[in-house]
Amino acid sequence: SLRCWRDLVVEEDWPIFDSRVIGISPGTSASSELRLRHRDGNIVYLSSFAECVLESGSSDGLRLYGGLVDITERKRLDQNLAESEKRYRLITETIRDCFWMATPDIDKMLYVSPAYETIWGRSCESLYESPRSLFETIHPDDRDRVLDILTKHRHQGTPFTITYRIIRPDGFTRWIEDRSFPVLDENGKWNLNIGVATDITERKHMEDALQKSEKFLEQVVENIPDMIFVKDAENLRFVRFNKAGEDLLGYDREDLLGKNDYDFFPAAQAEFFVAKDKAVLVEGKLLDIPEEEISTKNHGKRILHTKKIPIPNADGTAQFLLGISQDITDHKQSEEKNLRLAAIVESSDDAIIGTTVDGTITSWNKGAERLYGYKEHEVVGKSITILTPHDREDEILGFLEEIKSGKSVKNFETVRRNQDGDTIHVSLTISPIIDKEGDIVGASTIVRDISDRVKEAQEKQALQEQLLQSQKMEAVGTLAGGIAHDFNNLLQIVLGYSEVILLRKKEGESDYVDIQKIYQAGRRGADLINSLLTFSRKVETQYVPMDLNQEIATVRDLLFNTIAKTITIDLHLSENLASIQADRSQIGQVLMNLGVNARDAMPDGGTLRIETTNIQLDEEYCITHPEAKPESYVLLTVSDTGLGMDKETLSHIFEPFFTTKEQGKGTGLGLATVYGIVKNHGGYINCNSEIGHGTTFNIYLPTIQTDQILETSPIETTIPGGTETILLVEDDGVIRELCAELLTGVGYKVFSAGNGKEALEIYQMEKHKISLILLDLIMPVMDGWQCLAKILRIDPKAKVIIASGYIASGLAKGMQAKGARGFVQKPFETNQLLTTIREVLDKD
Ligand code: ADP
Ligand code: MG
Repeated sequence: SLRCWRDLVVEEDWPIFDSRVIGISPGTSASSELRLRHRDGNIVYLSSFAECVLESGSSDGLRLYGGLVDITERKRLDQNLAESEKRYRLITETIRDCFWMATPDIDKMLYVSPAYETIWGRSCESLYESPRSLFETIHPDDRDRVLDILTKHRHQGTPFTITYRIIRPDGFTRWIEDRSFPVLDENGKWNLNIGVATDITERKHMEDALQKSEKFLEQVVENIPDMIFVKDAENLRFVRFNKAGEDLLGYDREDLLGKNDYDFFPAAQAEFFVAKDKAVLVEGKLLDIPEEEISTKNHGKRILHTKKIPIPNADGTAQFLLGISQDITDHKQSEEKNLRLAAIVESSDDAIIGTTVDGTITSWNKGAERLYGYKEHEVVGKSITILTPHDREDEILGFLEEIKSGKSVKNFETVRRNQDGDTIHVSLTISPIIDKEGDIVGASTIVRDISDRVKEAQEKQALQEQLLQSQKMEAVGTLAGGIAHDFNNLLQIVLGYSEVILLRKKEGESDYVDIQKIYQAGRRGADLINSLLTFSRKVETQYVPMDLNQEIATVRDLLFNTIAKTITIDLHLSENLASIQADRSQIGQVLMNLGVNARDAMPDGGTLRIETTNIQLDEEYCITHPEAKPESYVLLTVSDTGLGMDKETLSHIFEPFFTTKEQGKGTGLGLATVYGIVKNHGGYINCNSEIGHGTTFNIYLPTIQTDQILETSPIETTIPGGTETILLVEDDGVIRELCAELLTGVGYKVFSAGNGKEALEIYQMEKHKISLILLDLIMPVMDGWQCLAKILRIDPKAKVIIASGYIASGLAKGMQAKGARGFVQKPFETNQLLTTIREVLDKD
């Protein structure tokens, strides 16, 4: 196709076939390659050849011959080869591994890639020069092995891999993995060894580390005291067992691995285990089996606490099953033992309390709950001192000190406080709680309730005291009664005769005043004796059915006048109070005596409280109060807010002549009288008092049936009264007023006179109105006898009643002879007085 030069477009330099240009001289030739672009656009390579010849005919005698050969095709092939070579070189020379090529006996190194220099730290040149120098780089410990392998493979022509260490000139050691492949020529002859040496130092280190950590884990697993096993998920065979597992089951690992549960355990157990395994694998999460029984070869039945965990592989499906089993047999047994002990503690009647050595409550049984009232959660964490009365805190703290030094406390009797604040009597036994190390870590306190026993003892003592007291009172009563009776007879004589003498004497006569003093002293003595007689129950009593409330209401007015205004009288009288059978004047005396005592006990004022209520005493009460009977009583309570008494005083108050009051103020007969009266009424009395806390008297009076009262009452209607006018002659102002009140109270009109003279004056003026004269005998200015005589002189029919304390039998006769119509005993007994008055008034 090339017809003309002009067809060619010169791509690059157009080689000018000029001898000068191409530098040839005649006789020489030159050749060159040309790269031209063809008109069709393709690159064309030509090989040109030119020869310079001397020839005639040319201008300079030279002729240039030449030829062109199209070498485009060859050129392309060459270029391809070069490029592929270049690429391979690039690969081998840039890759981090070292490629090498050597003769089959590796005596001559044909090629080594530059990575050699990086890995070995030596020049490639050195290796080309001496392939043997490679061995010198190998770690001395590895050399023989490497040589062995090389020798082995030298004659075999098979691929092999050696791993060895090298020591670099800079001293670093590196791990090399060298792989060698034999290369055969087209005739099948082994003519070349090529290889790749890789620096595996990093990998090796990692592998080492991995191995180490695996070893470590292995160690850990081996040393864990719990049984650890691994089963493969597919067929549940054991693939791993640790030492603890071997010990527990009694088999060697070798016997266990590859087997399953059925090979070692009873079928029922194996079934249970496998069922759990399957559950774990299905659920894909940890399963906690708090208790499972397992039969072992050497240790019999054991209880395990097992956890089973699925171990997944990369895609998440379970590949293995990990099991961790703790032998809790001993723990379980001690737990059961503890439970049994706890049950014993719980069921104990005694309170059993655990505390720290500092007294903080740590345990609290049912017995403690019963005894103290607190629930467990209310006291645990609190100090044990909440159980002690405030004044006993030191006691318990002292005990804890003893406990700290290893001592114990046995059967110590004391008192404690329950939740309501009540005192309970207890016996304490406290022992130290000692832990495994022998340290004292707390105290256990056994508290026995001895309240009943103490109460019994106290009651017994109280009963004894009561018995002694009543025996004493009885003895004193007999004694006093005997003396009083005889003494009373003697006094009656003294009084009677001194009264007779006084009547014979005129006022102003030499010994009138002296004898009057004898009379007055005798009368005071008689009052005292009367009290004594009352105390020893030797007085006549007139029982009538009565409503105690009414009696109180009467006495209350009297008390109002007797006691200071600073004292409030507080009445709490029960409605529907049962009736009692009583002597009105004596009951009045009881109230008065108690009221006066209360007044004396409240010098700075206070409250006197009088209370009545119905009360039914039961058998139980009577056991502890031997004086009481299981009947219904009216309870009269008289209490004050006064000074109170100490125990010693309290034990003597009912004795006659016992007084704490200064001479002249107290006779010591007030309460003795009260005692006697109450006894006489079939009742009984007791007293509670405390210094500074006032005093309370309780008087129990037996009740009577209400219908009885209907027969004899109402009392008022039986009291004889009238509308007449009475002249009352009495020197004692109090008695006069009382008497006047009484008389007007029942309808009479009353004139009052303080002595005989006054009486006579009134009588002279008002004699038509006056129907009756009530005349005291012993009076100043003009005595009763004189007055009587004078009145009868004015009106011989005048009705005069003589009032006197003590009348000797002779006196009574003389009195009638002197014209008196009647006689009443002083102090006045209401009923007797009014009856006598009525009788005299109604008699002509
Ligand atoms: P008296 O009142 O004459 O001393 P009592 O027999 O009435 O005699 O009382 C005896 C003693 O009892 C009194 O001296 C007093 O010590 C004591 N006593 C009686 N009642 C009370 C009371 N309400 N408060 C305090 N002490 C009392
Ligand atoms: Mg008194």
